Amino acid sequence: MSELLSYFQSQRQSMVDLLTALCHFETPTLGKEHVDKMGEYMEAQFRQLGASSVTRIPQVNVGDLLVAKWNENAPGKPIMFLIHIDTVWPLGTLAERPVRIDDDGRLFGPGAIDMKGGITVTLSAIRGLVERGEMPNRPIWVMMTTDEEVGSIYSHDPIEEYAKQCGLVLVMEPATIDEALKTMRKGIATYRLDIEGLPSHAGNAPEKGINSIIEFAQQAMKLRDWNDYKRGITISVTMVEGGSATNVIPAKTVGHVDTRAMTVADWQETYDRMMALEPMVPGAKLKVSMINGHKPMERNETMVRSFAQCKAIGEAYGLTVREDMSGGGSDGNTVAALGIPVLDGLGPQGDGLHALHEHVVLNSLPRRSTLLAAMLKDWDFNK
Ligand SMILES: [Zn+2]
Repeated sequence: MSELLSYFQSQRQSMVDLLTALCHFETPTLGKEHVDKMGEYMEAQFRQLGASSVTRIPQVNVGDLLVAKWNENAPGKPIMFLIHIDTVWPLGTLAERPVRIDDDGRLFGPGAIDMKGGITVTLSAIRGLVERGEMPNRPIWVMMTTDEEVGSIYSHDPIEEYAKQCGLVLVMEPATIDEALKTMRKGIATYRLDIEGLPSHAGNAPEKGINSIIEFAQQAMKLRDWNDYKRGITISVTMVEGGSATNVIPAKTVGHVDTRAMTVADWQETYDRMMALEPMVPGAKLKVSMINGHKPMERNETMVRSFAQCKAIGEAYGLTVREDMSGGGSDGNTVAALGIPVLDGLGPQGDGLHALHEHVVLNSLPRRSTLLAAMLKDWDFNK
């Protein structure tokens, strides 16, 4: 075992305490005042760990974003941690499911793995380096967002703005159940279909109406045929609402479609096909809009190289570093689409994201903190 790893293992209890404290902030994305309370706590943590500046990016609908910087004027490009403090859990969840640790050393609690565990190891890695006097002389940034769970609608542009200045972005989303990083994430795009027909009495003059539900049904069947599981393209009709009364030919139908793709090319092709949809029922009007879109985080050459360096650094400190893929998107997709080197799934081991059995495997906290600290010390942008 490396000396750095045994140091972080000696800090295990303080990491458990920190994770517990973070889980005690209830931070539903749209509960701005609650999220801002945790933001204040985070700002105090950043300052206590010696951040040379903390910039606030105010928000109206969600919690304020923060960007903390260490060694701002040091040479070289920054390494930036990307964390989000919001969770999918409504207020009151904590009272229903208080934080608990089971006999296998797993900590259960709302938001524990997504992503208060990732925040814990970020702060712990920096704390460790500061306390050991080993903070490397390079710019280190932490960008804290507050709306990841609603698709980063407000933080998307700030994330791009800061990520563009960096040499490496570390996305602190959870690792897999096997503690693997996520080196590939599917791209996502959700679309809304607005269909307009013409109302008419279903008994007296059905032939004079234009049935928007029939139009939607035909589109839905067509979309189903676009699924290509081998290529990893999935098109799922997920919600539909239409009609106004049982005896009226429905004039309005709204449908929602979830699409996923493995490559940027497939993502783009799906986008082009969606936007080119034409109505099939004579007289019906169809409007297609993309509501939310994240291009895939491809396992391309940049990703392969970044992961290889991460694995080599981890092994030098006695760690096993694995990789896997994910069907879900994250802010890693946004950063990767810019061509900036990114590593995702650097949070602790665990399971149950957005589910009742959400938990963090506590023994992975020292291992992840070691990996992060080692990367800050040894990362070479030229490799
Ligand atoms: Zn997350």
